[in-house]
Amino acid sequence: MTDSPPSPVYCLTVDDREENLLALEVVLRREGLELIKARSGPEALEALLQHDVALALIDVQMPIMDGFELAELMRGTERTKRVPIIFLTAGTEDHQRRFRGYEAGAVDFLHKPIESDILKSKAEVFFELFRQRQEVARQRDELKVLLHENSRLLEQSRKQSETLQNSDRRKNEFLATLAHELRNPLAPILSAVEVIRLSELSKEEEIEVYDIVKRQVQHMVRLIDDLLDISRISRDKIQLRREIFQLGDVVKNAVETSTPLIAEANHQLSVKQPSAPIEIFGDAVRISQVIANLLNNAAKYTPDGGRIELSVALQEGLVAISVKDNGIGIPPELLSEVFEMFNQVDKHLDLSKGGLGIGLTLVKRLVEMHGGKIDVISAGEGEGSEFIVRLPISKSQDRHQQPSSSTNAV
Ligand code: ADP
Repeated sequence: MTDSPPSPVYCLTVDDREENLLALEVVLRREGLELIKARSGPEALEALLQHDVALALIDVQMPIMDGFELAELMRGTERTKRVPIIFLTAGTEDHQRRFRGYEAGAVDFLHKPIESDILKSKAEVFFELFRQRQEVARQRDELKVLLHENSRLLEQSRKQSETLQNSDRRKNEFLATLAHELRNPLAPILSAVEVIRLSELSKEEEIEVYDIVKRQVQHMVRLIDDLLDISRISRDKIQLRREIFQLGDVVKNAVETSTPLIAEANHQLSVKQPSAPIEIFGDAVRISQVIANLLNNAAKYTPDGGRIELSVALQEGLVAISVKDNGIGIPPELLSEVFEMFNQVDKHLDLSKGGLGIGLTLVKRLVEMHGGKIDVISAGEGEGSEFIVRLPISKSQDRHQQPSSSTNAV
């Protein structure tokens, strides 16, 4: 904090005679003091509207308005009622007049000719009092600011601890989900091994059993890969390949990856994309992972026999990849949370669907690492969801082409 120079102390002197005002100025003049000179009561009242004065030295005998009248008016005004007043009187004042002066609010009387030492020391007491009052007011203001800052910090730390508690709770839930997800595939694998050990199986039965084992192991591999990725993301260790690739190939690859899950639930998948090739600069494997993840989610969060639409379209130098389903949907208030790590909209439902709540965090990060963005739209529960990934297309590609579309059903 820088110290600003102390504000001046104002002293009002009121006298109808210029030479008296000058004499007062000579006696009182010193650094930090500003004398306000008024030649009449009305002039004094006007000056008092503009300055907070530490002391008023008022001549009693003045034309238009005498000193007592001025003092009474000052006492009747909120702004000036506490200003200490010393009356300056000429010679002998009778007791009654003196009494009227005190009634009007005088703290003292000084007789003319004024003794400069006495005036100086009396005035100094009031200047010092005024400075102390100013200091108390300044400290009170500072205290108010500190108190305000203090409650702001308290509120901030309360919010931080709430966030920490939340993320701690989510991590604990995540560990429980993780244990559950890793254990789940082991039961079918163990049963399959038992079946192989105890039974004479036909060729078809053998293939069926091996398929079960393969699917479960693949599921576990996917989980563990996601876990590894998420830990790389937390440490900023994900590295992307940087090369031009054809989006069409990547879409095909992602669809192949997700087909078993989609087919298992009897969903209908339609794929719509421009027939002209679209080139992207980045990591083909990661973009395929993004699309497959969105397709898998669409399959997971849509009741059996649903509809999933994957569509690719060019939009002003960007390509928009949309994955839309007619599944369980997402409540509007939870839309922004689905990309947060370990966040699952409905825990009970998700446990049975299989998932760790990290897929969309990973997807969002990968899309952003490609200079793109992802949005989610859902009209609410039961109304289906649409995830739209927007990626920049490669600079070498003609951006103004308007390719025609082709639709495939899988
Ligand atoms: P999870 O492993 O649980 O699927 P994600 O990070 O992929 O984790 O998704 C986070 C949550 O977002 C899911 O648990 C689910 O609640 C919700 N979600 C994701 N995709 C969809 C979808 N297509 N329809 C409805 N909800 C979805």
